[in-house]
Amino acid sequence: MRVLLALGGNAMTNADGRARPEDQIAAAGVAMAAVADLLQHDVEVVITHGNGPQVGNLLVKNELAAAVVPPVPLDWCGAQTQGTLGFVLMDALDAALAERGVDRRTATVVTRTLVASNDDGFTHPTKPIGRYLPADEAALLIEHGETWEDRGEKGWRRVVASPEPLQILDAPAARALVDAGFVVVANGGGGIPVVRDHDGTLRGVEAVIDKDLGAALLARTVDADVLVIGTDVPHAVLHYGTPEAADVGTVTAAEMRAYAAEGHFASGSMGPKVDAACRFVEQGGSRAVITDLAHLAVAITGSAGTVVVPN
Ligand code: ADP
Ligand code: MG
Repeated sequence: MRVLLALGGNAMTNADGRARPEDQIAAAGVAMAAVADLLQHDVEVVITHGNGPQVGNLLVKNELAAAVVPPVPLDWCGAQTQGTLGFVLMDALDAALAERGVDRRTATVVTRTLVASNDDGFTHPTKPIGRYLPADEAALLIEHGETWEDRGEKGWRRVVASPEPLQILDAPAARALVDAGFVVVANGGGGIPVVRDHDGTLRGVEAVIDKDLGAALLARTVDADVLVIGTDVPHAVLHYGTPEAADVGTVTAAEMRAYAAEGHFASGSMGPKVDAACRFVEQGGSRAVITDLAHLAVAITGSAGTVVVPN
C-alpha cells in the first residue's frame, strides 16, 4: 500500500507554534516516530509538509537584514524550507528507523509546482503571510509593490496569491525514488510555485500554494492508495467549538462536500484539508483520512479519524 502523508505545522513546531531549531527537531522526532511505526508494516510512504512558520521566520530575516544582504523572493524561501525541513525530517526518520531495526532509505526532492500565471490569486491575493507590521512600515513595502492589509488592532499583514496547484513538476523524481524503495519527502509547503513563460521556461513566483491541496495532487501523481492529512485534531468536527460539536467518522466525498457547503470547516485551517480529502477520492484515490499523529498507524491499517471514501 502506498501512503501520502501530509504533515501540518504542529509536526514541525512545538505546541505554541514556536519554531526554534530545537522545537523543530523535537517535533520532527515525534512525527517521524509515528512514521517509523507505520514503516514496520508493508507500506510505501511519501511525506509532504507545511512550512508556514519557517517561511515566516525567513521573511522577518529578509526585512531586518535588507540593508546588508539582499532579500530573497518568496519562491526561494519555499525552496530553502523544503531543503531544511527535508533534512530535519530525514535525520529524525533515520534515527527512528534505526531504533526499530527497520532498514529503509530516505530522500528529499526539491519540488516545483506549476500554477497558472492568470490565477485569480495574483489579482486578488488572499493568503496572509509573515508578521504584523505598523501602518508606516507596511506603507513602505506597499510602495515596493507588495500587498498589505489592515488587520485592525494587530497591525498590517502581507497577503499573497495562493494559486491552484496544476501539476507537481518534480513528481516523477519522487515517484522513481518511492518505486525504488525510498521513503520520500517531497512538495514541502505545497511546492515551489512556478509559472511557465511563453517560451516554455519556468519562473518562480511570489505566492504560496496550500500544502493540503498540493498533497492531494501529489498523492494522485505518485499513485498513492491513501492520503493521510496529519494535523493536531483527531477528526474534522461538525459545529466545531460549540456544544453540538460532533466528530465526522467515515463519509463519502459528496456528504463531506455538503457539510463543507454548510460552513462547518474554517477556510484557513480545516477547510482546505476537507477539500483536499474530497479531491483525492473524487479523482480516483481510494481513501483520504484526516487525523492526528497519534492515530496515524490505525488510520492506515484500520479505521481512525475522519475517513473520506468515494461516493
Ligand atoms: P495544520 O497546521 O496541521 O495544517 P491547521 O492549524 O491549519 O492545521 O488546521 C487544523 C485546525 O483546524 C485545528 O487545530 C482546529 O483548530 C481547526 N478547525 C477549524 N475548523 C475545524 C473543524 N470543523 N473541525 C476540526 N478542526 C477545525
Ligand atoms: Mg496549525
